[in-house]
Amino acid sequence: MNAHDLDRLRPRLPSPLEVVEDERFTRLGLALLLKRDDLIHPDLPGNKWRKLSLNLRAAAGRPVLSFGGAYSNHLRATAAAGRLLGFRTLGVVRGEELAGRPLNPSLARCAADGMRLLFVDRATYRAKHEPAVLAGLLRQAGAPEDVYVVPEGGSNALAVEGCTELGRELAGQADVAAVACGTGGTLAGLAAGFPGLALGVPVLKGGFLGEEVRALQTAAFGGPRGDWRLDERFHCGGYARTTPALDAFAEDFGARHELAIERLYVAKMLWGLVALAEEGAFAPGTRIAAVVTGAPEPQAVSSR
Ligand SMILES: *Cc1c(COP(=O)(O)O)cnc(C)c1O
Repeated sequence: MNAHDLDRLRPRLPSPLEVVEDERFTRLGLALLLKRDDLIHPDLPGNKWRKLSLNLRAAAGRPVLSFGGAYSNHLRATAAAGRLLGFRTLGVVRGEELAGRPLNPSLARCAADGMRLLFVDRATYRAKHEPAVLAGLLRQAGAPEDVYVVPEGGSNALAVEGCTELGRELAGQADVAAVACGTGGTLAGLAAGFPGLALGVPVLKGGFLGEEVRALQTAAFGGPRGDWRLDERFHCGGYARTTPALDAFAEDFGARHELAIERLYVAKMLWGLVALAEEGAFAPGTRIAAVVTGAPEPQAVSSR
């Protein structure tokens, strides 16, 4: 079995690009397109496929260890890839207090897919990429010698390279491509492959993301690439935080376009786009592609 050949899973690539009629854009002469990366694969949706593909090829069937929070889409995608392609997976999860509790639906899915989970305290988790701390974690996790380590959120040079394809798929189709940012890996790759403006909407508070994107582009390409910028106004208080206005917006957008909107990332990006359009940030005639990087949370393992 080719444990590293993600293409065997028949991804839907290039992902579909849909024109949506939304009067908040059309009345300004703007075209809104949805880049449906959420449809790439049911178990490895969105940017997680693009970020994992070259990494799994590099891992070549070896066990894969990665890191994430209690609701990490990246850990879930990694675990699913392991089950589907037949390689071992290990997940280091932030929060030792989670160890004694029933698993939430996201972690339960990881475990059901065969991922071995190790829960660590926040200080250790923060220091995880320091060599000594990492070595300790690998030992604790029972990781084999040949383990392939993917950083938190899956963002490394190969992940960024994988995301350049997203930009190339949008070339000639859109003038602006917007994406929600966690680690910034997807934006770093998108911007490098896209000839227009790549717009990142961070879902975390902090203002550190520009540095991260530059560092990831340097790691992947040796220096900055593409035309990108961030708009830091739409995080709604930080990761997994929401406001009644954002919830109402996501409900309404979903109802208008018959599409369940993922709340942690996609909703904030779409909200930012509507606000920017209203502010007159885009010239009439601009084609804006909103990258739908993921689908809403799975409810429970039994529901699949
Ligand atoms: C992981 C994720 C992101 C963030 O991607 P980064 O490359 O970490 O910036 C955006 N949207 C969804 C739905 C995700 O799961």
